[in-house]
Order: sequence, then C-alpha cells, then structure tokens
Amino acid sequence: VLVLIAVFYNIWKIFRNEQEIIDYSNSAEQYAQLKSKFLAGMSHEIRTPLNSVIGFSEQLSLEELPPHQKEQVAAIRKSSEMILDLVNEILDFSKYETGKMNFESAPFMLNQAITEVYQTMSIHAMKKGIELEISSSVDDNVCAEGDKVRLKQVLMNLTGNAIKFTRQGKVTIQAKVETALPNDFILKITVIDTGIGIEKADLPHVFDEFSQVAEAQKATRHKGTGLGLAICKKIIELQGGNITVTSAPGQGSAFSFELPLKQLAEGTCSTESAIN
Ligand code: ADP
Repeated sequence: VLVLIAVFYNIWKIFRNEQEIIDYSNSAEQYAQLKSKFLAGMSHEIRTPLNSVIGFSEQLSLEELPPHQKEQVAAIRKSSEMILDLVNEILDFSKYETGKMNFESAPFMLNQAITEVYQTMSIHAMKKGIELEISSSVDDNVCAEGDKVRLKQVLMNLTGNAIKFTRQGKVTIQAKVETALPNDFILKITVIDTGIGIEKADLPHVFDEFSQVAEAQKATRHKGTGLGLAICKKIIELQGGNITVTSAPGQGSAFSFELPLKQLAEGTCSTESAIN
C-alpha cells in the first residue's frame, strides 16, 4: 500500500510540475508534448516498484510453499509482468512521439536473432497448443549491422499477436533477404497465422495508435493497449522500411515487414555480438 501511495504521489507531482510549465493557451502540439511527458514520467514511476514486485515474487516462487500459495505467487508474477509490458509499451510510444527514440547500430548474426525470437515464442505457442513454425532462407553466416533489439521487438510483437489471435492451427515465421546494393540488403519477414483474421474495414486502422478491433476483443477477451502495431510501424519506418498486412476474416492474417540492413563480411560478427 505504501509503495502504491508513493507511486501515485510521484505521478501527481509530475503532473503538477508539467501543469506549471505549460501555458494552456498554447497549441495542440504543446498539449501533445505535455501528454507524452506525463506518460513517460508515469511509466518510469510505475516501473521501479513493479520490478521489485516481480523480483520478490520470483524469489518467493523458489520457496517451499503450499500448492495454493505457489499458484497465488505465480498469479502475482504473471499480472505484474503484464502491467510491466503495458507500461513499457506506453513508455516506448511516448519516446517515439517526442522524437527521443534512438536506434543502435551494431553487428549481429541475422538468423540467430530470428531464431531467438522463435525459441521464446515457441513456449507461448506450445502453452496454447498452437504450432509455431519457422521457414528461413537466411544463411546462418549472414552478419548484419543494425538494431538487433528493435528487430526482435517487432518480430516478437507480430508473432505474439499471431499466437494471441489464433485459437487453433499454426503460426509461421518466414524470413528471407534480398540484395539491394553491394553492401546493403533488405530483410523480409512475414508472420502468417490461421487465426480469427481482420475485417476489410478494420485493416487500414490496425497500425493506428490505441486501435483495437472490437471483434478481436470479443473473441479473445484480450486486453492490450492497441499500441503494439503502432510502435512496430514506427520502428520499421524510422529505419527506412515498411510494414503491411493482408487478412481474411475467419482464415487468418499475414503481417510482413521489409527492413534495410547493412551487410557485413562473414566473420565480422564476433562471438560476443552473436550472443547479445
Ligand atoms: P494490442 O495487441 O495491444 O491490442 P496491437 O497494436 O498489437 O495492440 O494490435 C491492434 C489490434 O489489431 C489488436 O487489438 C487486434 O484487434 C488486431 N490484430 C493484431 N494482430 C492481429 C492478428 N494476427 N490477427 C487478428 N487481429 C490482429
């Protein structure tokens, strides 16, 4: 309770400070800045105590506990992780809005990045009884230069959505590279699912911020922010790529993105960069 009071007190302080600085007679742009600053501040304040809750529930789960208490600790951890995901999405989004999102550029093994996402998401798919398949024609030795973390974030998001909105069947991650210039290539990834699909009228809006398809919400009782795809779109477009979707209601969807990356000579990716 004390932690919660402290969090809300800090959020209130942030809001008060912003109110003092901003003159409300000013433009919509300033209002948007205020909103973003407030969201960023709020997200920071919530993240710190939330990480303690997750850390302590992790420790507790290792203790000898009666089965019903084990379940309760697992529920605390799962819910806290869900809130952390939502808060991180809001924080990420406010970074984009205020132009504070930077991209790293470092060498990394391309196929390894894709495989890491596949391995993480396989666990989620398995829990739901969905088959997760990977079909990559990218050579294992391909060494790329770009932002591996952001690439994995986009792929994780698309694959996570595909699993979320599929009741049965399978999700496939297809990956290939196309040469663009002597030292550049374009990575093309498509995530295909056999899920609930998206109505034609809703398709143009799925990449809009805070947009969620009403039918999907009813079908999955899923609670999200509606920010995931908007963030993916920004990550890809800010790096000179594009992201698209095709879908048939009741049959499934296919989300594709093309991302330009620098191609490095084989062997440039050190073992260390291959691990990170
Ligand atoms: P969130 O997952 O937080 O709701 P997203 O931006 O990731 O937000 O997705 C926006 C909406 O697009 C989802 O709420 C859902 O209605 C729809 N959507 C996204 N991916 C899929 C998919 N693979 N199949 C069906 N609907 C999808």
